[in-house]
Amino acid sequence: MKKIDIAKESCSECGGKLEKRYISQEFEREGVVVKLSGIMALVCINCEDIYFQPGGADKVAEAANSLFKLAIIEDQHKHQLSARICKA
Ligand SMILES: [Zn+2]
Repeated sequence: MKKIDIAKESCSECGGKLEKRYISQEFEREGVVVKLSGIMALVCINCEDIYFQPGGADKVAEAANSLFKLAIIEDQHKHQLSARICKA
């Protein structure tokens, strides 16, 4: 898999520098909110645009989908379900 070279990549919106950061993202579907925290991403220091490593965005979407399924099974509608990626 190709890796982003942070030193060479810059923001496609404003040309700003990208910085490695751990971010949180919320997803909402049919009134169910799921939150993923601790996702490694590259964030533009100027405009806060978020970039994922190649394939990363798909994995985040997959994780969110899994959480939505879990929320529905657990009948957690109207509640917030969050998942956090922690260091082992
Ligand atoms: Zn930018």
